[in-house]
Amino acid sequence: MREVPGGLRKTLQIDGMHCASCAQAVERALRAVDGVASAGVDLVNERALVDVAGDVSDDVLIAAVRAAGYKATREDRTATPDTLVEHDVERAKGARRRAALAWALALPIVAWMIPEMAWGVMWPSPLAFHFGMLALAAPAVFIAGGPTLRSGFTAAVRRAPTMDTLIGLGVGASFLTGVLAALAHVGMMPSVPDYSGVAAMIMAFHLTGRWIEAAARGRTSGAIRALLGLGARTARVARGAAEVEIPVTDVVVGDLMIIRPGERVPTDGVIEAGESSVDESLATGESMPILRHVGDRVIGATINGEGVLRVRATGVGEATFLAQVVRLVQQAQATKVPIQALADRVTRVFVPVVLALAAATFLAWWLAPSALGQIATAAGRFLPWGSSDASPLGRALFAAVAVLVIACPCALGLATPTALTVGAGRGARSGILLRNGEAVQTLSRVDVLVFDKTGTVTVGRPQVMDIVSREIPADELLALAGCVESASEHPIARAVVAACETRGISLAAASDVRAIPGRGVRGRVDGREVWVGRADWLSAEGFPLDAWEAVIARMEDAGTTAVGVAVAGRVLGFLSVADRAKPDAREAIATLRGMGIDVVLLTGDNERAAHSIAAEVGIDRVIANVLPEDKVSVVRGLMAAGSVTGMVGDGINDAPALTSADVGIALGTGTDVAIESADITLVSGELLAVVRAVKLSRATFRKIRQNLFFAFVYNVVAIPLAVLGLLHPLIAEAAMAFSSINVVLNANRLRRARLG
Ligand code: ADP
Ligand code: MG
Repeated sequence: MREVPGGLRKTLQIDGMHCASCAQAVERALRAVDGVASAGVDLVNERALVDVAGDVSDDVLIAAVRAAGYKATREDRTATPDTLVEHDVERAKGARRRAALAWALALPIVAWMIPEMAWGVMWPSPLAFHFGMLALAAPAVFIAGGPTLRSGFTAAVRRAPTMDTLIGLGVGASFLTGVLAALAHVGMMPSVPDYSGVAAMIMAFHLTGRWIEAAARGRTSGAIRALLGLGARTARVARGAAEVEIPVTDVVVGDLMIIRPGERVPTDGVIEAGESSVDESLATGESMPILRHVGDRVIGATINGEGVLRVRATGVGEATFLAQVVRLVQQAQATKVPIQALADRVTRVFVPVVLALAAATFLAWWLAPSALGQIATAAGRFLPWGSSDASPLGRALFAAVAVLVIACPCALGLATPTALTVGAGRGARSGILLRNGEAVQTLSRVDVLVFDKTGTVTVGRPQVMDIVSREIPADELLALAGCVESASEHPIARAVVAACETRGISLAAASDVRAIPGRGVRGRVDGREVWVGRADWLSAEGFPLDAWEAVIARMEDAGTTAVGVAVAGRVLGFLSVADRAKPDAREAIATLRGMGIDVVLLTGDNERAAHSIAAEVGIDRVIANVLPEDKVSVVRGLMAAGSVTGMVGDGINDAPALTSADVGIALGTGTDVAIESADITLVSGELLAVVRAVKLSRATFRKIRQNLFFAFVYNVVAIPLAVLGLLHPLIAEAAMAFSSINVVLNANRLRRARLG
């Protein structure tokens, strides 16, 4: 789901959804509302994300959902993580109570049915048997299973049958056989077999599946909620000369927070005084504490080490990094994985088809029993539950009930969302933020990864190595460059400014400064026009460079970037600037290549500097001298050549390329722009995080495929058996419950996926 320009994204909490067909009904209802551009429902977290293009009020959306038979509420922004978890725990408890009640009745029923199934003995008498079965089954079906029956019934009335409708019909029909059998016994109609006990057991299995699902749901979102719950509750802030302790929700941007050793950082901020190692594992997955000094950013909820920090708050509430992570992860769960589209199409037609199939099965067995009967009789010799001696009506019910029960596509609906949720949660714990499900599928199949150089493959903290100045002292040249560069955010600009600082040069203010991305900066210092940037830009702007060729060649041959400084119309000198490769770059690149991924280095820097870094980290495809606007066409070119292409970048100038690649990966807590344009954000700046992200996407996608396969295969195999009357309704229900549970458990195994 993409953002609508000029539009708004709303989140609603939805209650009462049980399965993929419920989620689809809600989606359809929301999409039908005027002004809704798109709507996605996240079944696992029970929320809907609605992109509205115009002026659509929440109430209209809520009403639309209500008309479809579900309950919607505005997302409760004030809900604390505790109340959310509480909600899940309560629901899981309710589900467990209902399952327990159903089993308390179903177990005696089983014991009572065994002599009847094995030897045809109805103990103590047929009459007592029939009425006893009904008496035991009724509370299991109607009390424990009440919510299921109600929801299945309303769905049927709205002519949008769901899985609950299938279960309801199956249970209802089984229970009805008991009533008919009792009536037959008192001589009111021909005899039919009594499946009322089976009704209770079907319900018991069904409710067990629901309970496990509810419990899993609670645990699944636990990772994110735990993350939210990690935040500090109070903050110590400076108020005048005093320090006061206030709730963290009262902290405002600009507050000066005092953080003592061992305390959690209350909210995002910048260190103004002090130095300490900070445990950022919660945000980056990096277990080693990192030394943070004055001027560094700290992230709310990370843990301060041994020093006292005075931190100026820069973001609170919804604007914090942590809140952003939670939002990203939750949004990821509401998005669709392309492979799921197939499952969705199947689900949409599934329930009506199954209803028709069950009706056809019933009629075929009832009106033309001999056709299907021969197969059943043959099989009856091998299967203990063969109903060869039952009446046509009895057999018809047997087969139709089994079809209704077995066909429930619950597992199909759970297959993708559960894997995606667990995968996204697993990623969040290691600093891998998946923005959407499509990215998981794409990254798992990526052929080429394009890496930006500066700040991505390199540390991004280049240093001025050398200064060649011909007409003025080197320090004066540096000072002039520093004055204009202090207005730029580029790593090279920061290197120049840092070099001025270490030499004790104080910088005068420049005026009319303009940064030209991928080229350089220009501005006015003391009335003189100063240009700082790459050589080919300066020469294109009309500055003669003939006298400098040798200097440039020498700097570039050494693998550094030559930055020219022109003052009042003439180039007066060059600075040589060099960056280091990240310490883990070599290992990360080698691992990626070992995984069959082609690695390309893409940079606006010169050919020689690019090749020197590339050789250092083990990349052999280099595309250099690319202006920021052309990075997009390089990426498009690779895509056009048929490669699934990923772009890894960090800065603002990479944003367009991140967006146009098949999958964009933004590195570092970096710029918000890069994070917004990327599909995947890696919180730490490490390159090994890219390897982890690829592994996570492969593991998650593998789970999704496995789950869909399990869910499909089981329906494909079981439905024909049920039609032929070879599947006892009870076994059908057990298999169905098992299939859902299997999908949930299988997805949960992702939690422990090894990414290292
Ligand atoms: P990368 O693709 O490696 O991230 P950029 O596209 O940001 O690099 O920049 C490409 C080249 O443009 C740099 O190597 C440098 O020569 C020049 N450049 C860009 N911005 C500046 C600046 N503020 N000061 C000096 N040189 C710059
Ligand atoms: Mg860059």
